[in-house]
Amino acid sequence: MNKNQCDRFLRWVYNEINKGKIQIRFKKMGKLDGEFDYDGLVMYIDPRCDILKTLLHEFYHIRNPHTGEDIVEKKEKLIANFLSERQYRTLIKRLAKAL
Ligand SMILES: [Zn+2]
Repeated sequence: MNKNQCDRFLRWVYNEINKGKIQIRFKKMGKLDGEFDYDGLVMYIDPRCDILKTLLHEFYHIRNPHTGEDIVEKKEKLIANFLSERQYRTLIKRLAKAL
């Protein structure tokens, strides 16, 4: 995954958040940091974890439903490292608007 692919993924995430079809909620969970309810289209994030990384992780699952957990964890770290300060700011604003 290169910088362009990360940018494209991020633009898709912004767009998905903006569409408003997916609800984002905070919930304290046991073992999981995040979880997506495909029937209700609700993304749950444990507020005690790294919220932005978990958000990226869950969206990666949605976009790549057949990718295994270990790969998704690697991608999540890669994307988090690629993001610029401006992209983080935009992500936080979009997330805040969706809450
Ligand atoms: Zn996962």
